[in-house]
Amino acid sequence: MTLSVMWFRRDFRLQDNTALYHAVKEAQQRKEPLLFIYHLDPVFTKNNTPNHRYFFAALDLFVKRCEKLGIYIHIIEGTWQEAFSHILEHFPEISSLYYNQDEVGAGQKRDEEIDKFFLQKGMKVSSYIDYTIHGAREVKKADDSIYKVFTPYFKKWIAQPKRDPYVLTEEDLFLESVREDSLYSKGQKVLSNLPMFLDQNSVPHEEAARRLLKVFLQKKIDQYDRFRDVPSAEATSRLSVHLRTGTISARTVLYHIQEKQQTSYSTGMDTFIKELAWRDFYNMIYHHYPESKLNEIDDKYRQLKWNDNSNLLGKWKEGKTGYPIVDAGMRQLREEGWMHNRIRMITASFLTKDLLMDWRLGERYFEEMLHDYDEASNIGGWQWASSVGTDAVPYFRVFNPMTQSNRFDSKGEYIKKYLPELAGVSEKFIHEPWKMSENDQRKAGCVIGKDYPSPVVDHTIQRKKAIQMFQELK
Ligand code: FAD
Repeated sequence: MTLSVMWFRRDFRLQDNTALYHAVKEAQQRKEPLLFIYHLDPVFTKNNTPNHRYFFAALDLFVKRCEKLGIYIHIIEGTWQEAFSHILEHFPEISSLYYNQDEVGAGQKRDEEIDKFFLQKGMKVSSYIDYTIHGAREVKKADDSIYKVFTPYFKKWIAQPKRDPYVLTEEDLFLESVREDSLYSKGQKVLSNLPMFLDQNSVPHEEAARRLLKVFLQKKIDQYDRFRDVPSAEATSRLSVHLRTGTISARTVLYHIQEKQQTSYSTGMDTFIKELAWRDFYNMIYHHYPESKLNEIDDKYRQLKWNDNSNLLGKWKEGKTGYPIVDAGMRQLREEGWMHNRIRMITASFLTKDLLMDWRLGERYFEEMLHDYDEASNIGGWQWASSVGTDAVPYFRVFNPMTQSNRFDSKGEYIKKYLPELAGVSEKFIHEPWKMSENDQRKAGCVIGKDYPSPVVDHTIQRKKAIQMFQELK
């Protein structure tokens, strides 16, 4: 009897999982069992950052939840060559492999190699676009070239037919899952040795994702366009950690919004759908610009002379720049492994245009810290904010942290949540506490330079320097 392998990656769910759906349906037809695997590469497991700890915790929870359903995910480790050779030795009856594709980064390259490896052995490989709503090669111009600007991309994206979610019934999931005891328990041991995020209540899983989507659709989406930029309003979906670990698919999210749109339309829904399309857009851009983790997509900016100052970088990371909106964001990131989108833009702009530091340093720090880290969106966001990417903010439109703060956190509620040392500072000074007189500082219980830092740079001067730095290359 032959055997099929379902390989999970960053798709920790049983519903609307394209590869799983096909693996299950085809195994049913062939009346054969399924072997479930997850592969841990040492290049990945050597990391011990908040991002990785969160991801490993999500993996661990998924494996445990599957086990309760009689679905046994065997953790295999080593380079992919070692891990898969071992699996094929163990199970010579394997005839086919199912997985959801990685269209970007190291994963994409590995997928190409694995496909070759399996095909050379005469095995069948079935891989699917699943991480995004539209894959990196699905939305193109009439002449087959890619869009580099979001608005026309979106026009085409929204007009293209969308797939419905793939549904597996309870009976479908009552399947024959291979359990090879020694391999399974070895995998469990490997898993238990991984560094892991410990707050069990915040580890993403499928039901939590569906609940979150339901609440968002009932209570928030109609106001999304009005409040999504206000960080204290908690008006965004917070689905990013679920999309990153795959505990819900972007396809399912879109499907439920469009379903609701038919009976109770709101402009908030349109705005939200656009954000899902940004995720696809950046996936597409990164696929076509695979060097963009290291290089500016706009090649005329590859010679920019960034500042090299580890002291300033450290202050930015710690949230001690003296600019409250920036510091609140950086502390939120440290405390929660997540940061509001508007604040990601402000902090990224501050690092690159005020501290004049290389965007790659920021991209790397976000990579370490974000629970929702998505390589394509993070690179896209950083290249956007530092004006070096495609469809980026123009270099001469430098974010003013005080104006941004006033506009999106006018009462300073967000700032005070993360900077308790500014709790007593009045609305008048909350965006520029260094302007308080000594008397004001005493009254606020916050002495600048002691309880809260003086600004590390002067925005007006740095703005001019940033523009000049870009202009020198024109
Ligand atoms: P919502 O506002 O509820 O949006 C819903 C979903 O749409 C998000 O979960 C996300 O999948 C997608 N989305 C929203 N905005 C964007 C965007 N600008 N680009 C791409 N997709 C978007 N997002 C990540 O998922 N991972 C990252 O590593 C990441 N890094 C970023 C770095 C920078 C410098 C910037 C400016 C943005 C980054 N973003 C990243 C995009 C955005 O900030 C987050 O997706 C969003 O804050 C997640 O919160 P949410 O789920 O509540 O968003």
